Amino acid sequence: MELALAHPDHGYYMTRDPFGAGGDFTTSPEISQIFGELIGAWLAGAWLSTGSPSPALLAECGPGRGTLMRDILRATARVPGFHESLQVALIETSPVLEAVQRRTLQGAHPSLRWLRRVEELPSLPLFLAANEFFDALPIRQFFASGEERHVILSDGCLAFSEGEVTREIGEPASAIANQIASHIAHHGGAALVVDYGYAEGGGDTLQAVKNHAFTDPLEAPGEADLTAHVDFGALADASRHGGGAAHGPVPQGVFLRRLGAELRAAHLCKNASEKDCHAILSGLERLVSPAQMGELFKVMAFTPPCSPLPEGF
Ligand code: SAH
Repeated sequence: MELALAHPDHGYYMTRDPFGAGGDFTTSPEISQIFGELIGAWLAGAWLSTGSPSPALLAECGPGRGTLMRDILRATARVPGFHESLQVALIETSPVLEAVQRRTLQGAHPSLRWLRRVEELPSLPLFLAANEFFDALPIRQFFASGEERHVILSDGCLAFSEGEVTREIGEPASAIANQIASHIAHHGGAALVVDYGYAEGGGDTLQAVKNHAFTDPLEAPGEADLTAHVDFGALADASRHGGGAAHGPVPQGVFLRRLGAELRAAHLCKNASEKDCHAILSGLERLVSPAQMGELFKVMAFTPPCSPLPEGF
């Protein structure tokens, strides 16, 4: 999974921009600007409610095309003192996507920097967002017997070893969650993790997506997006081990509604044509409807221990 996604020459993310109608899949910030605007409001609110620390760090893990960060910065431009206090960090491993992000974010903030790993974040209060980042980190799968599932060669073709998967573990996901939570516990701040996943249960959730459809994960390694559902229970445990607190997960639809998604859509519609308003409302529907992304996608926050319940939880 790691090689298929992250191999420097052949890895899926390392060699392409996979998003949008002509790509393999699309994500919330690419569907509607409301997503990034509300995440921006949440992050600026967290900054204000922790005493407007300055300097502070605004960061994103796995920024894709840079659309979410662009919307966050646009939506928060008028929060007094916020942008002036910020250094902005984008954590990205793919040179192709970093180049796309540099174009999207040109002029969006005077202090943009790109990092490869969360360990490189400077020791400042951290306000971090990660959307569909943790699902892209490699997992290992196990059978009821405790034996690990392997990718094997069978008659010269890739295949899975026989058995029924009952458990997955994502060591890189837990290590990164631990790192973020520990940073926030030591230096202050808050993080918002949004992804499809589960609080309990799981089983076999490995999936491959190409051209907006599911495909066999072993068919063309490096050519399809490979993900697993995020184990939010494991992220919460990792956050506590890192010395922080975890809140949620709450369903994305519930979270965005609590932050005022409908009000924001109505406001955008006021100044839009009927056709644009229709697009705004159908984008919102995709994000919040339980039948679409509203229920499977979930939101979790990391804060320092003993913090009040964050907005939306
Ligand atoms: N957040 C974006 C994109 C999600 S796709 C959106 O919502 O549209 C996953 C992103 O994480 C891509 O930018 C990918 O290159 C990046 N990524 C994957 N593994 C990573 C890792 N280990 N470290 C940093 N970035 C990673």
